[in-house]
Amino acid sequence: MPIFEFKCSDCGHLFEKLFLDSKEEVVLECPQCHSHNLERVVSRVNYVMGTKGKGPKITTKSCGPGSTCATIEIPGRDD
Ligand SMILES: [Zn+2]
Repeated sequence: MPIFEFKCSDCGHLFEKLFLDSKEEVVLECPQCHSHNLERVVSRVNYVMGTKGKGPKITTKSCGPGSTCATIEIPGRDD
């Protein structure tokens, strides 16, 4: 199961997210300030787990009046 690490652009909080399904699409937010301005951090965890540098794609979209949602798409495996 891949674990990805994210950093909040607003408050700088670092957190990890475990994905149970490689095709899962998840709405992400900062657990500290609930911001959707997130950056993916490349961590050694990914390297150890052999994810080959493929990472999730974060897209920010409008999902309601005055609010945005960050969604993440996990690419499928090459095998
Ligand atoms: Zn935050």
